[in-house]
Amino acid sequence: MTYEDRARPARKLLVRETVREADGVLGVVLTDPQGADLPAWGPGAHLEVCLPSGRIRHYSLSGDPADRTTYRLGVLREPDGRGGSEEIHTAPLAGRLLEVRGPLNRFPLVPADRYVLIAGGIGITPILPMVRQLAAGPVPWTLLYGGRTLTSMAYRDELAALGGRNVSIVPQDSHGLLDLDHALEGLPDTTAVYCCGPGGLIQAVQERCDRLLPAGSLHVERFTAPAAGPRGDTGAFEVELRRSGQVLNVPPGRSLLDVVREAVPSVAFSCEEGMCGTCETKVLDGVPEHHDTFLSDSEKRSGTSMMICVGRSRTSRLVLDL
Ligand SMILES: Cc1cc2nc3c(=O)[nH]c(=O)nc-3n(C[C@H](O)[C@H](O)[C@H](O)COP(=O)(O)OP(=O)(O)OC[C@H]3O[C@@H](n4cnc5c(N)ncnc54)[C@H](O)[C@@H]3O)c2cc1C
Repeated sequence: MTYEDRARPARKLLVRETVREADGVLGVVLTDPQGADLPAWGPGAHLEVCLPSGRIRHYSLSGDPADRTTYRLGVLREPDGRGGSEEIHTAPLAGRLLEVRGPLNRFPLVPADRYVLIAGGIGITPILPMVRQLAAGPVPWTLLYGGRTLTSMAYRDELAALGGRNVSIVPQDSHGLLDLDHALEGLPDTTAVYCCGPGGLIQAVQERCDRLLPAGSLHVERFTAPAAGPRGDTGAFEVELRRSGQVLNVPPGRSLLDVVREAVPSVAFSCEEGMCGTCETKVLDGVPEHHDTFLSDSEKRSGTSMMICVGRSRTSRLVLDL
């Protein structure tokens, strides 16, 4: 969700129903309250969802892009999280309106001569629409889908019906870990690999792709930030909020987001780890020091926007469009 996307109005969608998709995974089906068609999307897209508590969380669209009447999400319950997934699992959402932005896609299918899809656990959500699209076309593809137990793995029947023998479902308790070497060795250079799942799986796939395939062959979607290195947030700086003219001091050890929230309580944020893009803010003057994993290198070099949850300043003053 870029700051340009944020300027677009959010829409309210009706939770038509919630359904149990697997152990710990709740399906959420959204429709337009007036029955209008929903904006089109492609495999890999996600929504930014504002929960009744005001928390913002992101969820991949796992349904069929050809169905313009509903969006389907699959949400894993994460008891150790900060409460967003718990809220979805425990609040009576059916019949309520939820504010959403998007769809937004930073994980689109690019043209390739072959596809290897690798999903771990709830990482299947953006991959399923890819399977649907690839299964309807001529290009060869395979899916390797791992999970802790068979009953925790969502969309198994749908995947098997769509992909047949191209789909390998590998529950860890009975079949062990995914055989990544077998899946990734000996592939043509024109293969595109798509991976979504836990950080450890993404890292293992990344290591093999670095060794075996040309740079750029691997496409990943992360649901949580990779382990952060030191952020070097020792220096103080000033932030000017251009719209209100306020100038605030950001001391060492305090995040820019924290300081900004005191003056602008409505500022949008979500992951607080620099990976989801929700708090992307336009920089009007000064040089941001980026610590996020959301912006590309060239976006970071341009210095025109930043993630204020983890970013700081290289100049003594930073002027933000807030
Ligand atoms: C583009 C995108 C698409 C997504 N799609 C889906 C999807 O389809 N389905 C789905 O279930 N989720 C998806 N997510 C993740 C989702 O947005 C939420 O993060 C998730 O539901 C957990 O929310 P939470 O508030 O319960 O936990 P969060 O607080 O967001 O925590 C998430 C995980 O991070 C860990 N964590 C939290 N805080 C810390 C910390 N300070 N230090 C270390 N670890 C920490 C928690 O243990 C937890 O496992 C997606 C995220 C993104 C960015």
